[in-house]
Amino acid sequence: MSVPPLIGITSGGEPSFPGCYILRQDYVRSVELSGGVPLVLAPAGAALHPALLSKLDGLVLTGGTDVVPRLYGGAPHPTVTDTSAERDEFEMKLVHEALAHDLPLLAICRGMQLLNVALGGTLVQDIRTVTGSAIRHDDFALPRTDVAHAVSVRSGSRLHALLGRDEVEVNSLHHQAVDRLATPLVATAFAPDGLVEAVELPARRFVLGVQWHPEAWWREGRFARLFCALVEAAEAPTIPGLAATC
Ligand code: MN
Repeated sequence: MSVPPLIGITSGGEPSFPGCYILRQDYVRSVELSGGVPLVLAPAGAALHPALLSKLDGLVLTGGTDVVPRLYGGAPHPTVTDTSAERDEFEMKLVHEALAHDLPLLAICRGMQLLNVALGGTLVQDIRTVTGSAIRHDDFALPRTDVAHAVSVRSGSRLHALLGRDEVEVNSLHHQAVDRLATPLVATAFAPDGLVEAVELPARRFVLGVQWHPEAWWREGRFARLFCALVEAAEAPTIPGLAATC
């Protein structure tokens, strides 16, 4: 029996828990149920050693605080108060290492935004005040498994192949969004107001970002396919393609 793939999962500081690194169990359970071994990564520079990263088979960039605006050339909007420069620096380097080694990568919420910034894109710093969207992307009072809005999925994308649907309903726990898309990324899902809800790097083994929180539904398996696809890409480095059995 082969060893299951080791999937790094990022964690980071939250202002409401000073002195702690925070990670929701949902990410760990989602990876474990998909056949991967979850390895929680704290933002420590020593963890970026190439010899250590080469032991990872896949990576999940998780949700969390806003990316520091100066990293994409923005002056901070008044709503941007929860940031972690330490985490940003760590994850930006991690993204570049992961892409350099074609490590399968699933980027969730902040993770997708961080991926976009790491590759040269920018962010809408506060959807509600900047775009005036009528869609409630930021209703943090709702249970995390409550559907907030629909998302249209671009046909021909990896995401469409995985979900097999033109439209899915998702939760929405973000007040920021992709503004200018980084050049190498392709937007593959959109909210009804046009905001980007998923991105991909088509030429890579597996690089997928989603703006919603698929991990919240690990009990129901609503988006288990995304984690299964990550794990299958991680365990089959020479076989491109999509998950078939998970
Ligand atoms: Mn949303």
